[in-house]
Amino acid sequence: MLRVGLTGGIGSGKSTAARRFAERGAVLVDSDVLARDVVAPGTTGLGEIVATFGTGVLAPDGSLERPALAAVVFGDPEARARLNAIVHPRVRERTEELVAAAAGDAIVVQDVPLLVETGSPAAFALVVVVDADPEVRVRRLVDARGMAEADARARIAAQASDDARRAAADVVLDNGGSPEALRAAVDDLWHGRLVPFEANLRARRPVPAPSGRPVEADPRWAVDGARLASRVARAAGRGAHGAHVGPTAVPGLPAVDVLDLQVGVDPATIDTVRTGLDAAGFPRVDGGTSAGEWWHGGADPGRPVRVVLRPAGSPAWRATLLWRDWLRADGASRAEYGDRPTSSSTSFTRAEEWAASSGWTPSLDE
Ligand code: ADP
Repeated sequence: MLRVGLTGGIGSGKSTAARRFAERGAVLVDSDVLARDVVAPGTTGLGEIVATFGTGVLAPDGSLERPALAAVVFGDPEARARLNAIVHPRVRERTEELVAAAAGDAIVVQDVPLLVETGSPAAFALVVVVDADPEVRVRRLVDARGMAEADARARIAAQASDDARRAAADVVLDNGGSPEALRAAVDDLWHGRLVPFEANLRARRPVPAPSGRPVEADPRWAVDGARLASRVARAAGRGAHGAHVGPTAVPGLPAVDVLDLQVGVDPATIDTVRTGLDAAGFPRVDGGTSAGEWWHGGADPGRPVRVVLRPAGSPAWRATLLWRDWLRADGASRAEYGDRPTSSSTSFTRAEEWAASSGWTPSLDE
């Protein structure tokens, strides 16, 4: 099963994209729909809301009167937090039930409007963001949904910035054009990436990392590396730390387009860690173990990665972080050693000297 998170700012076209994924065969889990279901008449959710906010939030027929509830929590962060504490756990529970009920080879697309603001992007094998210029979104919300312009602008301003959303995205679907163009982009993503990703994940088959000559540094490597480091750390389980390492983690350095990720682990839990990575789309590489390290790859054909697990705090774990941070900090070392696939003992001596003089210590989180 492949779990895909779908998000986008209000009016971006997220629901339009979601419908297309469903037409292609995705199991769609819509957070907005679940948020309504869990407070429908007769639910414990509605019972708790009435117990907390009073019967004034009910319509005459006993259903929740949303505008009345919105008025109660508007501008009152504490009331909003109490409401969220009733709704969010129930939405999460219902989501997990629906995901658990999906077939083993399903591609589950979760439509989560506030994925970046309140969700856990790292819980998904892939995050897809639908993107459109804010002015285009305002116009669509006003013209197609009949929203007041000031209301549309206020809602857009209250959400995550487009930059924050793009940083969380593995894939950005541009919806600046026609709805047909968006649907065609969904179709391409489905056939070109999601279907083979799911098949690779299920077969526990890593995609081969590209080899060959380094290419010009890509500024997206840093953003992609940070996102994938969080994802592998989460897949590896409690206490694991993920870091983007290797040549793509040094800004400006030409490199082969494969992201290196190092996960610091507790070797006592290695079997659980490896199983977690296999299930999350980072399958183990056959024969990929040597003393004190374990290798995994990625099942996503759109983003080659190499993942190495090492005991947190071990010499090799530390040296990998030191090498990266030294090259990041020292332009001369970058020019001299940056293109070496492996480091020499001379360079390591210099890296250690730099660590001693700068007071460097390995940082666990990024
Ligand atoms: P979201 O779920 O992100 O809020 P929707 O998919 O509901 O966005 O789209 C917002 C409105 O804009 C809808 O009325 C939809 O029909 C319309 N819309 C979506 N994409 C386009 C597009 N490419 N061109 C014109 N209108 C669009």
